[in-house]
Amino acid sequence: MKRAAVLGRCMGVRRAVELALATAAAESQREGRPRAAPFAYTLGPLIHNPQAVAELAERGVVAISETELDERVSGMAVVIRAHGVPPALRARLESLGAHIVDATCPRVLASQRRARDFAERGYLVVIAGDRDHGEVAGIAGYAPGAIVVGTPEEAAEITTSGPIALIAQTTIKDEEYAAIRASLARRHPQLETVDSICPATEERRRALAELVRECDAVVVVGGRNSANTARLHSTALSLGKPAYLVETASELPTSVFAFSRVGVTAGASTPDELVAEVEAALRAGTAPRRV
Ligand code: SF4
Repeated sequence: MKRAAVLGRCMGVRRAVELALATAAAESQREGRPRAAPFAYTLGPLIHNPQAVAELAERGVVAISETELDERVSGMAVVIRAHGVPPALRARLESLGAHIVDATCPRVLASQRRARDFAERGYLVVIAGDRDHGEVAGIAGYAPGAIVVGTPEEAAEITTSGPIALIAQTTIKDEEYAAIRASLARRHPQLETVDSICPATEERRRALAELVRECDAVVVVGGRNSANTARLHSTALSLGKPAYLVETASELPTSVFAFSRVGVTAGASTPDELVAEVEAALRAGTAPRRV
């Protein structure tokens, strides 16, 4: 069994989880507050991993959606996740009396600041990314009038006579961003571009490519609802090796134990303990029984 040189939780997710757990622990001891959980809310699931979300809930950290926000958050700690939120949502939390704990990733914060700065200077801000992603909505909230584009074709439709600035969702692929940039630059040669792609995803992808070269099969540990875990899985398959996506060690298929050199990687939201359990099962040569 061999582990990828870079895998698992990125800095932003690790930081958000630690902040949420520390907040819940402190709140559980705070005088004058109910002794019963929840001790802290997170605005949306902190990470895309069902096991990690369940563990957080056990420790008094409960996810609440934007549509559920009401007086129950008054006086409660509400953790803003690594993706960040638009300023209007932050203002709503404040008006409801929530105690905001900001776990926005520093890289995302930097994008929000750049977007706001360009918008204040009269630029049209264009964000390359997924318009349904929380991070993109958060950045757009700092630049009124911002346009989100997902493809070079969408970028080619943008018409403005004023200055224009392009910012990337932190997890967009390099080549996708380059294509969007090239498309915009054809019509807007004075385009300002922000280099906001986070290296975490690419580092994991590169480490996986190296792992695939050295192994006969690869196990990707992570939530099925995690986009970057799914991307690692499809990358491993595209590199021509059998690849298995599992959320827990008990999901390891019998067939994986037939390979002599199995590589392990994990998505950016996967807890370290789940990776360790999968590695232990691979070393033992058998998957733990499902409970
Ligand atoms: S992927 Fe990068 S930008 Fe996103 S939370 Fe992790 S460290 Fe921050």
